[in-house]
Amino acid sequence: MTDITDIGAEIARRRTFAIISHPDAGKTTLTEKLLLFSGAIQMAGAVKARGEQRRARSDWLKVERERGISVSASVMSFEYGDCAFNLLDTPGHEDFSEDTYRTLTAVDSAIMVIDAAKGIEEQTRKLFEVCRLRDVPIITFVNKMDREARDPLELIDEIEQTLALDVAPVSWPIGMGRTFRGCYDLVDDRMVLMDRGDRSSINDVSFAVSGLDDPTIGDHLPRDQWDELKDQVAMVRELCPAFDLNAYREGHLTPVFFGSALNNFGVRELLEGVARLAPPPRTQPATPRDVEPTEDKVSGFVFKIQANMDLKHRDRIAFVRLCSGHFKRGMRLLPVGSAKAVNVSAPVMFMAQDREIADEAVAGDIIGIPNHGTLRIGDSLTEGEEIRFTGIPSFAPEMLRRIRPDDPMKAKHLGRALEQLAEEGVAAVLKPRISTYFVVGVVGALQFEVLADRIRTEYGIPVMYETVEAYAARWVSGDPAEMKRFSDTNSSALADDHTGRPVFLARNAWHLTRTAEDWPKLKFDKVKNQV
Ligand code: GDP
Repeated sequence: MTDITDIGAEIARRRTFAIISHPDAGKTTLTEKLLLFSGAIQMAGAVKARGEQRRARSDWLKVERERGISVSASVMSFEYGDCAFNLLDTPGHEDFSEDTYRTLTAVDSAIMVIDAAKGIEEQTRKLFEVCRLRDVPIITFVNKMDREARDPLELIDEIEQTLALDVAPVSWPIGMGRTFRGCYDLVDDRMVLMDRGDRSSINDVSFAVSGLDDPTIGDHLPRDQWDELKDQVAMVRELCPAFDLNAYREGHLTPVFFGSALNNFGVRELLEGVARLAPPPRTQPATPRDVEPTEDKVSGFVFKIQANMDLKHRDRIAFVRLCSGHFKRGMRLLPVGSAKAVNVSAPVMFMAQDREIADEAVAGDIIGIPNHGTLRIGDSLTEGEEIRFTGIPSFAPEMLRRIRPDDPMKAKHLGRALEQLAEEGVAAVLKPRISTYFVVGVVGALQFEVLADRIRTEYGIPVMYETVEAYAARWVSGDPAEMKRFSDTNSSALADDHTGRPVFLARNAWHLTRTAEDWPKLKFDKVKNQV
């Protein structure tokens, strides 16, 4: 990276975003194509090149080999036009976990990828809810238009209804499946037609038209498709709100693009859409004051910790989202609340391009800080000022199990191991008030295995899980006298998390609704804020 001189301009061109989607909607394919269009990778196929891991290639493979830590897929930085993009990975398949949610607290915007045949699916909805907590602006990409898809108007209606979001199509698909020809650009009146040739190169035909009656359209589309397009566009223009930048940036409206990532179609428009519409790094909420990205002093927060895959080393990488200042390699940063600053002599940065190791960064960028467990999720890092970022909540686990050591004598050790792993954010660890065993909670089933594996290999304690009659966990809070009454009558359904906050364990949906109704003065939260 060239030396940064104009910090304000550097920050203004940053676009830090994530892709939210349900497995198989096309996130990996789209990621690969975004890198391809930006020139960060030369050839399509690179994201899948590492086989099962489905990870994008990057310079950081070297870092990974040296440290044994898989970092390259976590953040991909690339340039396109005048913008510098940081794409944060949101693991969605077996590795779906609380990390996926927390990553969304470190972005300024998101792309929501929807499979055109399926519409809004469960994981998309969950991730969307996390975005909504911070009003993260969302651009929608309806993918797989080259296959039989649902009626686009019906899809738009579904997004609007299920997510309670205004929807403004910025392009409109022409046909679908085998008759899919491309899109009509509703904002600039352009035809963008798909070239079904070679998928590894970027070819599409795009030309401006004076409107939908422009006779040149007839050279490219059969009459019936042209007529259909005219009808649909007229309907869309009548039914859907026009795109409004403010409404989008406030998180109330989503612009929608249609395309086919596999066929490279619509990807350039999407990337240009992110460059043009998506916000640069935002003001970050913090106490005692908010932090502006353009402030001189460096600050950031840890949103993810990745452990060394080689378990003999206790190395960790803490992923830090920079919120302000001009970071340079070798700086000392203080985890707020701790007496000891960390010397960031070997930060990991994430360029997908073939470049020198970057050693400076600004607000919006992500740096990885190697450490031995000193940094924890949610930590705020500053040059000394006591500022705590408030945007990194904990999310209630969605699957719960009782955990016990194979050897009952190891119960105490297990407690300590669980506490450490809870601090690292591997799982939620709950201590029921009336049981001697811990309950652990996760948001993706594989996390149970990861947890058991780490407890066995890192702490030498084989463990087993048992089912527990708990449908949902909610942090419960309220007036102390009311809380006491609640604890006295509900102790069998209460637990404490690793920070000592009380958690209500509902047996089923009815128990949850009923209890919340019976105790209207108490709050039952799915999300716990840091401060
Ligand atoms: P992810 O699970 O969201 O990362 O989805 P992938 O990118 O791995 O895609 C899932 C499957 O859908 C793969 O077989 C892709 O080749 C396929 N796919 C992705 N995009 C498209 C598309 O635009 N059209 C078609 N027909 N298939 C696609």
